[in-house]
Amino acid sequence: MNMIQQFQIDITNQCNLKCRHCRNGDLKPEEITMLTYEECVKVFDEARQLGCQSVNISGGEPLMHPDIYRIIAYTSQYCYTSLLTNGYIIDDEVAKKLTETGLHMAQISLDSSVPEKHNELRASEQAFARIERACSVLRQYGIRVCFMTTLSKRNKEEFSDILKLASDMGISFVNFRRLIPQGRGCDNFNELGLSRSEISDILEQAKELEADYEIGICLFPFYPFRSSEMRQVYRENTMHTPESGCSAGVSGLAIASDGSILLCPHIPKALGNIRETPLYKIWFENEVILQLRDREKNLGGSCGNCEFKNACGGCRAYPYQETGDLLGEDTLCFINT
Ligand code: SF4
Ligand code: SF4
Repeated sequence: MNMIQQFQIDITNQCNLKCRHCRNGDLKPEEITMLTYEECVKVFDEARQLGCQSVNISGGEPLMHPDIYRIIAYTSQYCYTSLLTNGYIIDDEVAKKLTETGLHMAQISLDSSVPEKHNELRASEQAFARIERACSVLRQYGIRVCFMTTLSKRNKEEFSDILKLASDMGISFVNFRRLIPQGRGCDNFNELGLSRSEISDILEQAKELEADYEIGICLFPFYPFRSSEMRQVYRENTMHTPESGCSAGVSGLAIASDGSILLCPHIPKALGNIRETPLYKIWFENEVILQLRDREKNLGGSCGNCEFKNACGGCRAYPYQETGDLLGEDTLCFINT
């Protein structure tokens, strides 16, 4: 039976920055939405009953929510809680309060190892300096920190430099993501989005760099199959389950700040709303979810005829944003071409 392993709650879509690749785009004041503390607790408890083991508290910028500390204090009692933040307002006082909530990890968005480039992408002259401050105070208070980096044409030459920066700052994990054509990322996709071969070139360096900097890297969902040796390890290992790879609807769900229930934060297709529908009904009965779980039968294109489809599944956000077909091929995968 599929259980929720990854759960993300976007508690507000309000933000203090205007990043060029943000999935939220430009919001008018009347478009700003927020979940109440009670709604966050209720939906989190529903997810827990479905097996939820880890929750990302996200936004917008989640630290702009008036009840952020109460929300984290609640979720961190029951499961591994990460805060996805741009780090801009994390000073000593905020870090201390976060420690008191029991927060397990802060994932800080970093776009470039070059301060001026990061600031330009984040449209803020202070953005990089604020990350340095946030990392420093969070680590002082003993909160684990990782970087979350959206790969784009602007930082593709910096893969190694970003890992070095993380290593120099005592950070042991970098969660890389691909730019997905969504929100402001859609407006700038032609200028910033990477091609399949550019992603392949970046990942070729990964193995050596991971060892050099003693740092963990991830790039969902096909990262575990990036080299011929790793593909061979997969073939010989029977431990992989169909719940691995892309979690959208298979082992994960996301809640948007207006209560919409989503497959993943990058697939803006509402399956229902927490204010109207219990989570278990969506999780067990929604047709789209049931289709996504049967990768063997339903995936199309290069993902459909890929030997790794059950363990990987391809990023479903890509075909959805490109063609509207959730089950189509992940056009940025270089493995089964
Ligand atoms: S073709 Fe699709 S299923 Fe196969 S490795 Fe690439 S993304 Fe994953
Ligand atoms: S659709 Fe893409 S971004 Fe969303 S969970 Fe799957 S791999 Fe991750």
